[in-house]
Amino acid sequence: MTHKHVIGIDLGTTNSAVSLWLNGHAQLVANAQGKLLTPSVVGLDDSGNILIGESARQRLQSHPHLTQASFKRYMGSEAQLMLGTQRFRAEELSALLLRQLKQDAESALGEHVHDAVITVPAYFNEIQRRAVKTAGELAGLNVVRLLNEPTAASLAFGLLENREQKYLTFDLGGGTFDVSIIDMFEGVVEVRASSGDVMLGGDDFTEAICQWMLDQHPALRQRLPELKPALHAQAEQLKCALSSGNSASAALEWQGQTWRWTLDEAALAEYCRPLLERLQQPVQQALHDARFSLHDLDHVLLVGGATRMPLVRQTVARLFGRFPRHDLNPDEAVALGAGVQAGMVMADVAVEDIVLTDVMPFSLGVEVVKQQYGQIEDGFFLPLIERNTFLPVSKMKSVSTVYNNQSQVELKVYQGEGRRVKDNILLGEMTVSVPPRPAGEVSLEIRFTYTLDGLLEVECSQGEGVEAARLVIEKTPGQMSEQQIAESLQRLAALKQHPRDRAENRALLARGAKLYSFLLGDERAWVDEVMSAFEHALDSQDARIISQMREQVEQALSRFENGVPQ
Ligand code: AMP
Repeated sequence: MTHKHVIGIDLGTTNSAVSLWLNGHAQLVANAQGKLLTPSVVGLDDSGNILIGESARQRLQSHPHLTQASFKRYMGSEAQLMLGTQRFRAEELSALLLRQLKQDAESALGEHVHDAVITVPAYFNEIQRRAVKTAGELAGLNVVRLLNEPTAASLAFGLLENREQKYLTFDLGGGTFDVSIIDMFEGVVEVRASSGDVMLGGDDFTEAICQWMLDQHPALRQRLPELKPALHAQAEQLKCALSSGNSASAALEWQGQTWRWTLDEAALAEYCRPLLERLQQPVQQALHDARFSLHDLDHVLLVGGATRMPLVRQTVARLFGRFPRHDLNPDEAVALGAGVQAGMVMADVAVEDIVLTDVMPFSLGVEVVKQQYGQIEDGFFLPLIERNTFLPVSKMKSVSTVYNNQSQVELKVYQGEGRRVKDNILLGEMTVSVPPRPAGEVSLEIRFTYTLDGLLEVECSQGEGVEAARLVIEKTPGQMSEQQIAESLQRLAALKQHPRDRAENRALLARGAKLYSFLLGDERAWVDEVMSAFEHALDSQDARIISQMREQVEQALSRFENGVPQ
């Protein structure tokens, strides 16, 4: 039986990747530049064409006002991110990136794809998750499953080492930190608990180094607006260099002046101490929720680019009293796991024995009032589904009216762990009409159902004999409305893409790269020449020249393609 292809996407803060389930295993797809990772950067070139990935990343420093990176941090917020004079939401920038990854997968497969599994930080809240779905929709993708990132990495790891084991996935990416505790037995990959911090990642370590650099040369603070991108790039380079040496140097030249720095591990540790301390709490929380002690764990698995930092590895070793494992390439593990999940969605025989169970990492509930010392006080949180409950889950609780002749009840849905709702996140609200009766006589039964996809359904019924009505959450702060989505689709479609990034040209570039890597000697040199001519035509951005050249290149390549493995 053949199945429609489902792709797996790791939509990362720093880099993104796309994978396919092919011939019984997950594999990453190379982009048109032949790279497995696509920088999560979107920009505009000087003619107003959209640039995505490496071509945009290269302009981060030189054209900061025309380039956006790390936009994943703003998913589900109203933040306006500027590219020149144009405003974008994080969902829209993510959509442009997703569209590119979709095209890369299509070039590799030679067919259109619609369905995708997209990974999200386990600790992303409901609004951020919906934002990822919306980004997928804007990119023309049907998001069949949102998969928690550490769960994805665990799936990839689980297939690598298929035996009974309990482990903790420690995933520190560019912008987020996720911890998951996994119990693997008889083909079941069971997530026992997830925890994390959506505001902690490698980028914060880079920022701490920026602060250290400014403390070394305080005069630079006055020039910060202009110097920030260059300073940030130097800080990033220092951070990565310190992953393979005890000290590292950087220099910044600006308007005839040069500033120099030499950073060693001790200074880095001092400036990063507050960040390293923040790594502890989610670990303890996850262990507590899973009812595990440190001794129950067979090992600790590192995932995410920032776990390359020796300081982070030492902190993990100290926290757990043992050295962590880093068997998986931290940059690729999540995307590979998304590919495994894609295989499971396609019901491939190679993964039919694997069962994945996941948890919901945060509590969900409603606002209630309390009668305390003779007074009615509002603003309290009544959890319906407690964090780290296995998914899917459906739970019900009853609430009653509190005022005489009350005709409606405002139902406000929150997510979080705070006792008072002001400390939690408002997910949405709705109004339910009730018959006017004395206080406490009308009761409402509220049912929350949370699916494996990570979507919440709220049902509300009014006691005996009255049919339950499924209520749509009307107002969700941060969520794009249907109309906004429709407008955004038009806006994104109208954006000009650099010819190099168009699907047909990317596909041809990928074909050429594949042929080049297969051939040898004169034939290889000839392909090189043909592809250089095509790249030159693309750089001209003249549609007529490009189309003529594309035809010639297609014909030329096809003469050599006989015998190239597909
Ligand atoms: P990810 O989101 O998993 O791709 O992780 C990206 C983060 O990993 C960024 O903050 C990078 O600066 C960081 N990173 C990547 N390589 C290294 C390295 N060699 N040393 C330290 N941090 C790194």
